[in-house]
Amino acid sequence: MALHFIANTAVPSASGQTLPVIDPATGETFEALARGNAADIDAAVTAARHCLDTTWARMSAAERGRLLMKLSAKVADHADELAALEQRDCGKPVKQARADALALVRYFEFYAGAGDKLHGDTIPYLDGYSVLTWREPHGVTGHVIPWNYPMQIFGRSVGGALAAGNVCVVKPSEDACLSLLRVAALAAEVGFPAGAINIVTGYGHEVGDALARHPGIDHISFTGSPRVGTLIQQVAAERHCPVTLELGGKGPQIVFDDADVDAALPFIVNAIVQNSGQTCSAGSRLLVQRGIYESVLQRVGDAFTALRAGPPAMDLDLGPLIRQSQLQRVRGFLDEARAAGIATVAQGRVVDEAAAGGFYAAPTLLRDVPPGHRLAQEEVFGPLLAAMSFDDEDHAVQLANATAFGLVAGVWTRDGARQFRMARRVKAGQVFINNYGAGGGVELPFGGVKSSGHGREKGFEALLGFTTLKTVAFRHG
Ligand code: NAD
Repeated sequence: MALHFIANTAVPSASGQTLPVIDPATGETFEALARGNAADIDAAVTAARHCLDTTWARMSAAERGRLLMKLSAKVADHADELAALEQRDCGKPVKQARADALALVRYFEFYAGAGDKLHGDTIPYLDGYSVLTWREPHGVTGHVIPWNYPMQIFGRSVGGALAAGNVCVVKPSEDACLSLLRVAALAAEVGFPAGAINIVTGYGHEVGDALARHPGIDHISFTGSPRVGTLIQQVAAERHCPVTLELGGKGPQIVFDDADVDAALPFIVNAIVQNSGQTCSAGSRLLVQRGIYESVLQRVGDAFTALRAGPPAMDLDLGPLIRQSQLQRVRGFLDEARAAGIATVAQGRVVDEAAAGGFYAAPTLLRDVPPGHRLAQEEVFGPLLAAMSFDDEDHAVQLANATAFGLVAGVWTRDGARQFRMARRVKAGQVFINNYGAGGGVELPFGGVKSSGHGREKGFEALLGFTTLKTVAFRHG
């Protein structure tokens, strides 16, 4: 059975209750997980606070960095094992699971080297004063993590928080805990003090809610749905706890008629197919200039027809979705599209080897989706690509910005001036010109505007968010 990890020890939940771990590839239960509650969160916060006060806060940033570097190396040594855990737990194809493990290695490596570069300023002020600023850790940080990229999101969130001098209480998704519990055990093996990294597993409305309400949590980093993000922010507001929200997206992929379509094609497909479309930064809307709309749809459609979804071990284009309810959600969107007369251009297929009980969805390209339709507005979190055409630059900007989200956008054009104009005019936390995602760079600050959230993770910028600024003024005459 998978247990909580508190103070470097695997412990059952205070209630003794468990919940099932289901294999998305088959729909079968293969493991049990500790079902935590407020008492477990309290134990984790107590362990974290003790670690902060007795050990972590007394270590230099360089020492913390060395530990993170050791953890990075340890994770690299165990990359295959971690990838296998995540493959089973989340249904990721082999290549994706492996890429996620290696991203975790890189996050720890990046933050290992970054923490001791985090310094304040001196500020010119009145005669007789010297003023400086210190970047101080929040203290005990809470991390609520979704199921789609557990290792990557753990790496960017916990890695940054630890490097900045915080200790962490982590609540993974009930659908994706196994790899993270193993990483926490590896951290203990390389010498992280007891209480620096604590993991409490269980349901969001029980463990996640208890974490958000706990007065000993000094900052919350939440990655997940806009609905739960709102709940967390409301709960945190009652005690004025700072919150970073990384929420969903409805990423536009914008293709102008002067674009290098050959170069764009693989990006367009991958941006919606990666992780079976269960990616906050998925390129789920395809906006194409009218003159090349039909030819681009034809080519993207051909690529979609060739896509295959199947068992993770077959390492195809897509694995299963995470759970039955997610599959139903995707089917619901397709039913609504059909009822609204939205045409399907092309669909990939689910291979015969896929178990009947698995949560497989065929990737689907839909055309002329009305900009106000749910399919063009809401995050599906599945492999559905909604295509629509635009007339000119103003129209493209208007469509791109016409959702509640603003996380990631991609623009394809050879016109250099237009590249800059579009980068400025599209409302998103990241804009990619003639690419989409830039390989997911650990160094690149990531986060949203509007309903995609606020605050930034990844890159050096994340460290600023995991600290609070203290201004110190000396009056010395
Ligand atoms: P979710 O919001 O359902 O769950 C996210 C986490 O919150 C889970 O650990 C869950 O147990 C917990 N939770 C649920 N209810 C809670 C409550 N009442 N109080 C506290 N915690 C609670 O999201 P999900 O379905 O796991 O993940 C998919 C969503 O995450 C998508 O909307 C996606 O866009 C978003 N996401 C965003 C980013 C980003 O960086 N912007 C990255 C990955 C995923």
